Amino acid sequence: MTEDSLPPLRDVIAKYGLRARKSLGQNFLLDLNLTRKIARAAAPLEGHAIIEIGPGPGGLTRALLLEGAEKVIAVERDSRVLPALHDIAEHWPGRLEVVEGDALKIDQAKLVEKAGLPVRVVANLPYNIATPLLAGWVLTEPWPPWWQSLTLMFQREVADRITASPGSRSFGRLAVLSQWRSSARRLFDIPPAAFTPPPKVTSSVVQITPLPEPVAACTPDTLQKVTAAAFGQRRKMLRKALRSITKDPDALLSAAGLDGTKRAEELDVRDFCKLAHCHEQQSGGE
Ligand code: SAM
Repeated sequence: MTEDSLPPLRDVIAKYGLRARKSLGQNFLLDLNLTRKIARAAAPLEGHAIIEIGPGPGGLTRALLLEGAEKVIAVERDSRVLPALHDIAEHWPGRLEVVEGDALKIDQAKLVEKAGLPVRVVANLPYNIATPLLAGWVLTEPWPPWWQSLTLMFQREVADRITASPGSRSFGRLAVLSQWRSSARRLFDIPPAAFTPPPKVTSSVVQITPLPEPVAACTPDTLQKVTAAAFGQRRKMLRKALRSITKDPDALLSAAGLDGTKRAEELDVRDFCKLAHCHEQQSGGE
Protein backbone atom coordinates (compact mmCIF):
# COMPACT_ATOMS: atom_id res chain seq x y z
CA MET A 1 0.00 0.00 0.00
CA THR A 2 1.33 3.47 -0.83
CA GLU A 3 0.93 6.47 1.40
CA ASP A 4 -1.45 8.22 -0.98
CA SER A 5 -3.39 4.93 -1.36
CA LEU A 6 -2.98 5.08 -5.14
CA PRO A 7 -1.57 1.90 -6.76
CA PRO A 8 2.23 1.38 -6.81
CA LEU A 9 3.81 2.96 -9.91
CA ARG A 10 4.83 -0.44 -11.32
CA ASP A 11 1.15 -1.41 -11.39
CA VAL A 12 0.24 1.90 -13.03
CA ILE A 13 2.85 1.32 -15.73
CA ALA A 14 1.62 -2.23 -16.33
CA LYS A 15 -2.05 -1.18 -16.35
CA TYR A 16 -1.57 1.53 -18.99
CA GLY A 17 1.23 -0.21 -20.94
CA LEU A 18 3.72 2.63 -20.45
CA ARG A 19 6.89 1.25 -22.00
CA ALA A 20 9.55 3.95 -21.64
CA ARG A 21 10.50 5.72 -24.88
CA LYS A 22 14.09 6.80 -25.38
CA SER A 23 13.09 9.47 -27.90
CA LEU A 24 11.18 11.23 -25.09
CA GLY A 25 14.02 10.91 -22.57
CA GLN A 26 11.90 8.60 -20.43
CA ASN A 27 13.65 7.21 -17.35
CA PHE A 28 11.02 6.84 -14.67
CA LEU A 29 11.51 7.07 -10.91
CA LEU A 30 9.24 4.51 -9.29
CA ASP A 31 10.42 4.78 -5.67
CA LEU A 32 8.14 7.22 -3.86
CA ASN A 33 10.73 7.67 -1.07
CA LEU A 34 13.10 9.06 -3.65
CA THR A 35 10.58 11.28 -5.39
CA ARG A 36 9.52 12.62 -1.98
CA LYS A 37 13.15 13.46 -1.23
CA ILE A 38 13.24 15.55 -4.44
CA ALA A 39 9.90 17.17 -3.58
CA ARG A 40 11.16 18.05 -0.07
CA ALA A 41 14.27 19.64 -1.58
CA ALA A 42 11.95 22.17 -3.23
CA ALA A 43 10.23 23.09 0.06
CA PRO A 44 8.22 24.96 1.10
CA LEU A 45 5.49 23.64 -1.19
CA GLU A 46 2.48 24.72 0.86
CA GLY A 47 0.84 27.80 -0.65
CA HIS A 48 2.81 27.31 -3.88
CA ALA A 49 1.98 26.34 -7.42
CA ILE A 50 4.47 23.87 -8.87
CA ILE A 51 5.26 23.58 -12.55
CA GLU A 52 6.39 20.06 -13.29
CA ILE A 53 7.82 19.27 -16.71
CA GLY A 54 7.37 15.68 -17.87
CA PRO A 55 5.36 14.01 -15.09
CA GLY A 56 5.37 10.65 -16.94
CA PRO A 57 3.42 8.08 -14.89
CA GLY A 58 3.39 10.57 -12.00
CA GLY A 59 5.95 9.47 -9.37
CA LEU A 60 7.24 12.98 -8.70
CA THR A 61 3.77 14.47 -9.17
CA ARG A 62 2.39 12.26 -6.40
CA ALA A 63 5.31 13.17 -4.15
CA LEU A 64 4.73 16.90 -4.70
CA LEU A 65 1.06 16.53 -3.76
CA LEU A 66 1.87 14.37 -0.73
CA GLU A 67 4.43 16.91 0.44
CA GLY A 68 1.80 19.65 0.38
CA ALA A 69 1.96 21.50 -2.95
CA GLU A 70 -1.20 23.55 -3.21
CA LYS A 71 -1.36 23.13 -6.97
CA VAL A 72 0.70 21.15 -9.49
CA ILE A 73 0.59 22.13 -13.14
CA ALA A 74 2.21 19.32 -15.11
CA VAL A 75 3.26 19.66 -18.75
CA GLU A 76 3.61 16.35 -20.58
CA ARG A 77 4.21 15.57 -24.23
CA ASP A 78 3.39 11.86 -24.17
CA SER A 79 -0.38 11.39 -24.39
CA ARG A 80 -0.03 7.72 -23.32
CA VAL A 81 0.48 8.79 -19.68
CA LEU A 82 -2.62 11.01 -19.50
CA PRO A 83 -4.96 8.31 -18.08
CA ALA A 84 -2.47 7.62 -15.25
CA LEU A 85 -2.27 11.36 -14.50
CA HIS A 86 -6.06 11.60 -14.66
CA ASP A 87 -6.28 9.03 -11.82
CA ILE A 88 -3.97 11.21 -9.68
CA ALA A 89 -6.00 14.34 -10.47
CA GLU A 90 -9.18 12.58 -9.36
CA HIS A 91 -7.53 11.52 -6.13
CA TRP A 92 -6.48 15.12 -5.33
CA PRO A 93 -9.47 17.17 -6.53
CA GLY A 94 -8.58 20.63 -7.83
CA ARG A 95 -4.87 20.23 -7.12
CA LEU A 96 -3.45 18.72 -10.32
CA GLU A 97 -3.79 20.29 -13.74
CA VAL A 98 -2.30 18.37 -16.65
CA VAL A 99 -1.34 20.23 -19.80
CA GLU A 100 -0.58 18.12 -22.84
CA GLY A 101 2.12 19.66 -25.02
CA ASP A 102 5.76 20.43 -25.65
CA ALA A 103 7.30 22.26 -22.68
CA LEU A 104 9.68 24.06 -25.05
CA LYS A 105 6.76 25.64 -26.88
CA ILE A 106 4.35 26.37 -24.03
CA ASP A 107 4.40 29.75 -22.29
CA GLN A 108 4.88 28.50 -18.74
CA ALA A 109 4.64 31.92 -17.10
CA LYS A 110 1.19 32.36 -18.61
CA LEU A 111 0.18 28.89 -17.53
CA VAL A 112 0.83 29.60 -13.85
CA GLU A 113 -0.44 33.18 -13.87
CA LYS A 114 -4.03 32.20 -13.21
CA ALA A 115 -3.10 30.11 -10.15
CA GLY A 116 -2.25 33.42 -8.43
CA LEU A 117 0.36 31.68 -6.22
CA PRO A 118 4.14 31.88 -5.90
CA VAL A 119 5.64 29.35 -8.31
CA ARG A 120 8.37 26.73 -8.03
CA VAL A 121 9.60 24.55 -10.85
CA VAL A 122 10.34 20.91 -10.03
CA ALA A 123 11.22 18.26 -12.61
CA ASN A 124 13.06 15.11 -13.48
CA LEU A 125 13.94 16.52 -16.88
CA PRO A 126 14.00 14.62 -20.16
CA TYR A 127 17.76 14.69 -20.81
CA ASN A 128 17.40 15.58 -24.49
CA ILE A 129 15.78 18.98 -23.82
CA ALA A 130 17.12 19.71 -20.31
CA THR A 131 19.59 22.39 -21.42
CA PRO A 132 17.22 24.47 -23.60
CA LEU A 133 14.61 24.31 -20.83
CA LEU A 134 17.14 25.55 -18.29
CA ALA A 135 18.23 28.36 -20.63
CA GLY A 136 14.59 29.43 -20.96
CA TRP A 137 14.22 29.70 -17.17
CA VAL A 138 17.49 31.48 -16.36
CA LEU A 139 17.29 33.90 -19.29
CA THR A 140 13.63 34.85 -18.83
CA GLU A 141 12.64 38.50 -18.62
CA PRO A 142 11.68 40.43 -16.55
CA TRP A 143 13.84 39.70 -13.48
CA PRO A 144 13.26 38.67 -10.69
CA PRO A 145 11.56 35.89 -12.65
CA TRP A 146 8.07 34.39 -12.41
CA TRP A 147 9.54 31.38 -10.54
CA GLN A 148 10.95 31.33 -7.03
CA SER A 149 13.18 28.28 -7.42
CA LEU A 150 14.10 25.52 -9.85
CA THR A 151 14.67 22.04 -8.41
CA LEU A 152 15.77 19.95 -11.34
CA MET A 153 17.30 16.60 -12.10
CA PHE A 154 20.00 16.50 -14.76
CA GLN A 155 22.67 14.08 -15.86
CA ARG A 156 25.52 14.54 -13.36
CA GLU A 157 27.87 15.92 -16.00
CA VAL A 158 25.34 18.64 -16.91
CA ALA A 159 24.79 19.41 -13.21
CA ASP A 160 28.56 19.89 -12.88
CA ARG A 161 28.58 22.32 -15.80
CA ILE A 162 25.71 24.33 -14.28
CA THR A 163 27.31 24.67 -10.84
CA ALA A 164 30.98 24.89 -11.94
CA SER A 165 33.27 27.52 -10.45
CA PRO A 166 35.50 29.71 -12.63
CA GLY A 167 38.76 27.99 -13.48
CA SER A 168 37.34 24.49 -13.21
CA ARG A 169 37.21 22.12 -16.17
CA SER A 170 33.41 22.20 -16.32
CA PHE A 171 33.19 26.01 -16.28
CA GLY A 172 31.58 27.27 -19.49
CA ARG A 173 28.48 28.83 -21.00
CA LEU A 174 26.05 26.88 -18.86
CA ALA A 175 27.73 28.03 -15.62
CA VAL A 176 27.75 31.68 -16.70
CA LEU A 177 24.13 31.63 -17.87
CA SER A 178 23.02 29.81 -14.69
CA GLN A 179 24.98 31.97 -12.27
CA TRP A 180 24.88 35.57 -13.62
CA ARG A 181 21.71 36.28 -11.68
CA SER A 182 20.97 33.02 -9.84
CA SER A 183 22.77 30.83 -7.38
CA ALA A 184 23.10 27.19 -8.39
CA ARG A 185 24.10 24.24 -6.24
CA ARG A 186 24.11 20.50 -6.56
CA LEU A 187 22.04 18.89 -3.79
CA PHE A 188 22.43 15.12 -4.18
CA ASP A 189 23.05 12.36 -6.70
CA ILE A 190 20.76 9.54 -7.79
CA PRO A 191 22.30 6.33 -9.16
CA PRO A 192 21.23 4.81 -12.51
CA ALA A 193 19.66 1.80 -10.74
CA ALA A 194 16.97 4.02 -9.20
CA PHE A 195 15.39 4.58 -12.64
CA THR A 196 13.32 2.39 -14.94
CA PRO A 197 14.94 1.84 -17.38
CA PRO A 198 18.33 2.75 -15.84
CA PRO A 199 20.21 5.47 -17.76
CA LYS A 200 23.95 5.03 -18.48
CA VAL A 201 25.05 7.77 -16.10
CA THR A 202 24.46 9.12 -12.58
CA SER A 203 21.92 11.92 -12.18
CA SER A 204 22.03 14.93 -9.85
CA VAL A 205 19.42 17.21 -8.38
CA VAL A 206 20.29 20.89 -8.72
CA GLN A 207 18.70 23.82 -6.92
CA ILE A 208 18.66 27.23 -8.60
CA THR A 209 17.38 30.35 -6.85
CA PRO A 210 17.24 33.83 -8.33
CA LEU A 211 19.42 36.66 -7.02
CA PRO A 212 17.57 39.97 -6.83
CA GLU A 213 20.00 41.54 -9.34
CA PRO A 214 22.56 40.22 -11.84
CA VAL A 215 26.16 40.11 -10.52
CA ALA A 216 26.76 42.93 -13.05
CA ALA A 217 24.17 44.47 -15.37
CA CYS A 218 23.79 43.23 -18.97
CA THR A 219 21.07 41.74 -21.14
CA PRO A 220 20.45 38.00 -21.58
CA ASP A 221 20.80 38.22 -25.38
CA THR A 222 24.23 39.81 -25.31
CA LEU A 223 25.44 37.54 -22.54
CA GLN A 224 24.45 34.56 -24.69
CA LYS A 225 26.25 36.03 -27.69
CA VAL A 226 29.44 36.81 -25.79
CA THR A 227 29.62 33.46 -24.02
CA ALA A 228 28.92 31.59 -27.28
CA ALA A 229 31.82 33.42 -28.96
CA ALA A 230 34.25 33.07 -26.05
CA PHE A 231 33.57 29.42 -25.21
CA GLY A 232 32.96 28.44 -28.86
CA GLN A 233 36.73 28.66 -29.18
CA ARG A 234 37.76 28.14 -25.56
CA ARG A 235 41.39 27.30 -26.34
CA LYS A 236 41.90 30.58 -28.18
CA MET A 237 42.87 33.88 -26.59
CA LEU A 238 39.87 36.15 -26.10
CA ARG A 239 41.17 38.73 -28.56
CA LYS A 240 40.88 36.04 -31.26
CA ALA A 241 37.75 34.28 -30.05
CA LEU A 242 35.74 37.53 -29.88
CA ARG A 243 36.43 38.36 -33.53
CA SER A 244 33.25 36.51 -34.40
CA ILE A 245 31.15 39.21 -32.69
CA THR A 246 33.18 42.40 -33.11
CA LYS A 247 35.63 43.90 -35.59
CA ASP A 248 37.64 45.36 -32.73
CA PRO A 249 38.01 42.81 -29.91
CA ASP A 250 40.83 44.83 -28.30
CA ALA A 251 38.55 47.86 -27.85
CA LEU A 252 35.87 45.64 -26.32
CA LEU A 253 38.33 43.93 -23.99
CA SER A 254 39.94 47.15 -22.86
CA ALA A 255 36.52 48.75 -22.20
CA ALA A 256 35.74 45.73 -20.00
CA GLY A 257 39.15 45.99 -18.32
CA LEU A 258 40.16 42.50 -19.45
CA ASP A 259 43.41 41.09 -20.74
CA GLY A 260 42.95 39.92 -24.35
CA THR A 261 45.56 37.17 -24.00
CA LYS A 262 43.39 35.34 -21.47
CA ARG A 263 41.14 32.44 -22.43
CA ALA A 264 37.41 32.20 -21.71
CA GLU A 265 37.93 29.66 -18.94
CA GLU A 266 40.10 32.17 -17.03
CA LEU A 267 37.28 34.72 -16.65
CA ASP A 268 34.62 34.70 -13.95
CA VAL A 269 30.88 35.34 -14.24
CA ARG A 270 31.24 39.05 -13.47
CA ASP A 271 33.84 39.41 -16.28
CA PHE A 272 31.38 37.96 -18.77
CA CYS A 273 28.66 40.35 -17.63
CA LYS A 274 31.10 43.24 -18.07
CA LEU A 275 32.03 42.02 -21.56
CA ALA A 276 28.35 41.75 -22.48
CA HIS A 277 27.59 45.20 -21.08
CA CYS A 278 30.49 46.81 -22.99
CA HIS A 279 29.50 45.00 -26.17
CA GLU A 280 25.98 46.41 -25.80
CA GLN A 281 27.42 49.93 -25.38
CA GLN A 282 29.75 49.61 -28.38
CA SER A 283 27.31 48.00 -30.76
CA GLY A 284 24.23 49.87 -29.57
CA GLY A 285 22.74 46.52 -28.59
CA GLU A 286 23.10 45.09 -32.15
N1 SAM B 1 8.66 12.72 -13.85
C1 SAM B 1 8.73 11.32 -14.24
C2 SAM B 1 9.59 10.57 -13.25
O1 SAM B 1 10.34 11.24 -12.51
O2 SAM B 1 9.51 9.35 -13.22
C3 SAM B 1 9.26 11.15 -15.66
C4 SAM B 1 10.60 11.78 -15.94
S1 SAM B 1 11.28 11.35 -17.52
C5 SAM B 1 13.01 11.60 -17.22
C6 SAM B 1 10.95 12.78 -18.56
C7 SAM B 1 9.49 13.02 -18.91
O3 SAM B 1 9.42 14.18 -19.78
C8 SAM B 1 8.80 11.92 -19.69
O4 SAM B 1 7.54 11.65 -19.11
C9 SAM B 1 8.63 12.46 -21.10
O5 SAM B 1 7.50 11.95 -21.78
C10 SAM B 1 8.49 13.95 -20.83
N2 SAM B 1 8.87 14.82 -21.96
C11 SAM B 1 9.81 14.60 -22.92
N3 SAM B 1 9.89 15.63 -23.76
C12 SAM B 1 8.96 16.54 -23.34
C13 SAM B 1 8.56 17.82 -23.80
N4 SAM B 1 9.13 18.38 -24.88
N5 SAM B 1 7.60 18.49 -23.12
C14 SAM B 1 7.02 17.93 -22.02
N6 SAM B 1 7.37 16.73 -21.53
C15 SAM B 1 8.32 16.03 -22.18
